[in-house]
Amino acid sequence: MTRIDLHCHSTASDGTLTPSELMRAGAEAGLDVMAITDHDTTGGWDEAAAARPEGLKLVRGAELSCRWFGAEPAIALHLLAYLFDPHEPQLAADLVRLREDREQRAEKIVELLRADGVDISWPEVHGYAAGGSVGRPHIAQALIRAGLVRTTNEAFASRWLGARYFVPKTDLDVFEAVRAVRAAGGVAVFAHPNATVRGRIVPDKLIVDLAAAGLFGLEADHEDHSPQQRAQVRALAGDLGLVVTGSSDFHGTHKTVRLGAFTTEPWAYEKIAAAATGVPVLG
Ligand code: AMP
Ligand code: ZN
Ligand code: FE
Ligand code: FE
Repeated sequence: MTRIDLHCHSTASDGTLTPSELMRAGAEAGLDVMAITDHDTTGGWDEAAAARPEGLKLVRGAELSCRWFGAEPAIALHLLAYLFDPHEPQLAADLVRLREDREQRAEKIVELLRADGVDISWPEVHGYAAGGSVGRPHIAQALIRAGLVRTTNEAFASRWLGARYFVPKTDLDVFEAVRAVRAAGGVAVFAHPNATVRGRIVPDKLIVDLAAAGLFGLEADHEDHSPQQRAQVRALAGDLGLVVTGSSDFHGTHKTVRLGAFTTEPWAYEKIAAAATGVPVLG
């Protein structure tokens, strides 16, 4: 059986395994194909490629922070971008801007916490990100260190990062993001589109419009989807002729999900690999 996991994070963003460790863990988990999809960065690609074990194919990708401005307030969403050319100027500039904004936003969140007497600091949080894309899990790590919460999940409760100390990011317009990914030879897949546990979700009508704009697939099998939500995503993908993916969204110890907990069917992976022209699958 071919095991394909198309959504994994490393220390290049908010995962806890380095790209090399992630590759080894992928092989140990019995994966045949693994994608590295750090938030708003390709910073883990080279290390992952260099550490890729024999027999494990590597799909280089990223998870882009996007927003749909058709609702008020706008709805945040994630786009998985696969096999795009990392040097394509527009997309590369977008990624730089997103990462810079992540730093400013995290610093603001830290300031809000400090103003309420929470003893964490920006240098501490910045240090946890260790040169990678900064995310709220790094702030969660500081809250855990300060003894205020026990787990990352607890840090996302509404009294902490979930609402009280929430500061939005400057995300990409989702239509512009789909266009930019395609212009860079990549393939765009909507990550966990029905995950109501994460907040508001977009209407199916938007997904219809995104498909017309060049969206290639929908991630159906994901831990944040109920069985019903997975079935709904599959049905919509079927109606629109989009590929369906499944993936762990592995984050190391920042989450409990294991590598390969959800997987993508070979035909869907083959279609993604065949449609992309930015960079090849390695292996
Ligand atoms: P950010 O990208 O900085 O907004 O932070 C969001 C990241 O934190 C996502 O990649 C999630 O994987 C992670 N995250 C969101 N909610 C939770 C949660 N309740 N528990 C653990 N991690 C979460
Ligand atoms: Zn994450
Ligand atoms: Fe996501
Ligand atoms: Fe993710």
